Amino acid sequence: MEREAILYEKLPGGKVRCNICQWHCLINPGKSGVCRMYINRDGTLYSMNYAEVSSLAIDPIEKKPLFHFFPGTNAFSLGTWGCNFHCQNCQNWEISCVDIPDTSQRLLPGKEIELAKKYNCAGIAWTYNEPSIWFEYTLDSARLAKENGLYTAYITNGYITPEALDTIGPYLDAWRVDVKGFNDGFYHQLTKIPHWRGILDMAKRAKDKWDMHIEVVTNVVPTMNDDEKQLSGIASWIRDNLGELTPWHVTRFYPMRNLSHLMPTPISTLEIAYQIGKKAGLKFVYLGNVPGHEYENTICYSCGKLVVQRVGYNTEVLGLDKSRCKFCGSELNFRTKSR
Ligand code: SF4
Repeated sequence: MEREAILYEKLPGGKVRCNICQWHCLINPGKSGVCRMYINRDGTLYSMNYAEVSSLAIDPIEKKPLFHFFPGTNAFSLGTWGCNFHCQNCQNWEISCVDIPDTSQRLLPGKEIELAKKYNCAGIAWTYNEPSIWFEYTLDSARLAKENGLYTAYITNGYITPEALDTIGPYLDAWRVDVKGFNDGFYHQLTKIPHWRGILDMAKRAKDKWDMHIEVVTNVVPTMNDDEKQLSGIASWIRDNLGELTPWHVTRFYPMRNLSHLMPTPISTLEIAYQIGKKAGLKFVYLGNVPGHEYENTICYSCGKLVVQRVGYNTEVLGLDKSRCKFCGSELNFRTKSR
């Protein structure tokens, strides 16, 4: 269903400028933006996918992955159609590279809260594709979630504008952002976006201005972003801008779509990425898409005790006292209470 967009400018000639993501699409009458979910109808910009759900599931929060955020809880997880990136390694291309099909389900704000509570979810996560491309819906939904005592998480490519972030900032608890690489050529080749460093600025803003819990994911793609320079660039940036206690997930790539000619990431490459993160001073580096690997666990950096044990999506909290290590009292940057 359609709703008028809330962040755009009307321009001469019936054109509009969308200000939700950093593409800042200039859209002619009758046309839509890069994401294909915002359309200019006679000089007014509309969100076309308001409440249009492509995917809905009750997921462990660890699946996002968010490891230091309400561990062991379930998140009511929602995705829509389309995306503002066109990543060559997209795992969800069936929903991100299509228009809204006739089979789309409609879930009006309020219904997701009811379902989340019914199925004992502790919060809501907008995930599977980029949440900002149904910005108005996620905003309405996030407001309601907070009124109902649920946590809220954006699983995002981070390419949002400062004004959109500041609009939804008061209602979001977690910003799980991809930092896909660390050079212009790679980011452009993988995602086609022109200015990837804006993603870093928004992650920092989510933390500094809105006190969101931040976790970073890098999907390590053989021959593309698995070099030491990019990985240590990401790790050092996280340390310097988000803090050494920020979790960094280095996840395994599996061949698909335009990158089906590449091999899956060798485990040894992920272990090297782990070491790079540790060497940069990050206290929590995790391997992803490698169920059962010891680097899925949280170990206290100070006393060395096992604090959270994870095997795939089975999570056992063994040594947490709110955000601290139960054994030695060190701060571990766990969020267990909504703002
Ligand atoms: S959300 Fe982004 S990609 Fe979509 S129309 Fe707006 S600026 Fe363009």
